[in-house]
Amino acid sequence: MPVVQLHAVTRRYPNGVTALDAVSVGFDAGTFTAVMGPSGSGKSTLLQCAAGLDRPTAGRVSIAGQDLSGLGERRLTRLRRDRIGFVFQAFNLLPALTARQNVGLPLRLAGRRPDRDAVEQALAAVGLADRGGHRPHELSGGQQQRVAIARALVTAPAVVFADEPTGALDRGTSQQVLHLLRALVDERGQTIVMVTHDPVAASYADRVLFLTDGKLAGELTGATPEAVAAHMTRLEVPA
Ligand code: ADP
Repeated sequence: MPVVQLHAVTRRYPNGVTALDAVSVGFDAGTFTAVMGPSGSGKSTLLQCAAGLDRPTAGRVSIAGQDLSGLGERRLTRLRRDRIGFVFQAFNLLPALTARQNVGLPLRLAGRRPDRDAVEQALAAVGLADRGGHRPHELSGGQQQRVAIARALVTAPAVVFADEPTGALDRGTSQQVLHLLRALVDERGQTIVMVTHDPVAASYADRVLFLTDGKLAGELTGATPEAVAAHMTRLEVPA
């Protein structure tokens, strides 16, 4: 059973735009999926609906077997906090806190005592076991994003959603972060769904989904950056 399943998910905004149009897709445990598509094709909306940050107009989303449509705000918030990790383009670390404190934050927000072992294990998983005492400004951009990834992992989430996680990084640093995401899938069985516009980033995924006009427009498995770019070019050619 997929960890995340969308059943005919439609999201229509009050201005009449149908950002997602009856999309059905599943994300299996221990897989890395990239979501691509032209600007305005519905990638962010897909991620927001899949992560329970936005509610579909029609259709259903389930995460780890739990149907989100029946959940009230409080239970939805708890499910996001306990079962989902988020990584953004902007690292969103708190500047006054050390890396260790930033990583422990989701546990504190959940009212749990930050479990030292969980925090140290998450830092070790991203290769920053020796940087726990550093504040964000004492770390490089790539290291800051790795702290953000450790923060996403600390609750042992069912799925990590990443929105342009390498968008603010140079090419070399991006590749280190992508290599890390790939290793989390291969070595720890983490499930990752990543929105990106970069064919190189997408090529690290097992599967690349393409969206246009809120609908799925093909997918590739095990694709090279060149194959991803070629598919994107075909989608961007006006009909
Ligand atoms: P992408 O992430 O692929 O750029 P989005 O999911 O952000 O696409 O947007 C899909 C479509 O929905 C676009 O036409 C966009 O203008 C529209 N849209 C996104 N958010 C809103 C909103 N809050 N209100 C109205 N329209 C929106």
